[in-house]
Amino acid sequence: MRRPLVAGNWKLHKTIGESVALARAILHRLPRETRADVLVAPVFTAIHAVHGALGESTRVGLAGQSCYFHDEGAYTGEVSPALLKDAGCEAVIVGHSERRQLFGETDETVRRKAGACLSHGLTPIVCVGETLEQREAGTTEAVVLGQLDAALEGLDASSVRRLVIAYEPVWAIGTGRTAQPADAQAVHAAIRARVSARVSPDVAAGLRVLYGGSVKADNAAALMACADVDGALVGGASLDAASFVAIVEAAG
Ligand code: PEP
Repeated sequence: MRRPLVAGNWKLHKTIGESVALARAILHRLPRETRADVLVAPVFTAIHAVHGALGESTRVGLAGQSCYFHDEGAYTGEVSPALLKDAGCEAVIVGHSERRQLFGETDETVRRKAGACLSHGLTPIVCVGETLEQREAGTTEAVVLGQLDAALEGLDASSVRRLVIAYEPVWAIGTGRTAQPADAQAVHAAIRARVSARVSPDVAAGLRVLYGGSVKADNAAALMACADVDGALVGGASLDAASFVAIVEAAG
C-alpha cells in the first residue's frame, strides 16, 4: 500500500551543467514505469536549471537539501520553502545529520523547518539517526525516537500523513558501512510503532520511512525488501545515473 520513494541527495557536488547532465541521464535510463517515486536534491544553484531539464516529465521530482523556516527577511545565506517551491521543488530534506553535526541544526529547528515546508505544500523528508557511540551505548531507539518525537511535536494527523521519515544511522553515511537489513528493519518498525501510538495506526500504516546510509545498487534490494523500509535516501550512489537508477529498480 505504500509506494516506495528513492531520493538522491547530491550534497555539495556538481555544477549547474553537471547537474543538468545527471538529471537528463537519470531520465534517460529510468524505465517508463517504476514502482518507486523518484526525487533528486541538487545544490540550490542548480535546482532551477534541473527543473527546466526535467521539463514536463513527472517521473523525477525535485527536493531541496535544506531550508530555513521563515519565508523571507534578513536571513543572509538562507533559502525558504516558498523559494524552493518557486524553483520547482516538491520536497525538502530536513535535519540531515550533516546539517545537525556541522551546521548546528537542532531538534527544534528541524521541527520548525518541517512545519514551514508543510505550510507551503512541500514534503519534508525528516532525517533521524544515531551516532556510532549512541549505537554502541545501546541508545539507538531512544535517540531516534527522541528526534522523531521532536519533529512530530505540534503536528496534527493530516500533517504527519504528509511527512516522509528517513532513518539514517550517522555511522553509515558516506562510510561504506550499511546497517544490516534486520537492524534497519528494527528501527523502522520502532518508528512506525511510535507514529501509530502518537498519531494513529492508520497514519503510521501510510507513512513512508526511508533508509539511508551507504545504499548502493548491490545492497538496496535487501534493505528495501524489509517490511517497514519504504525506499532509500541515497548520497554517493546518486551521483551516477546508472547506480542511482539501479537502486530505483531495486525498489521493485
Ligand atoms: C545521505 O547523504 O543521506 C547518505 C545516505 O549518503 P551516502 O549514501 O553516501 O551514505
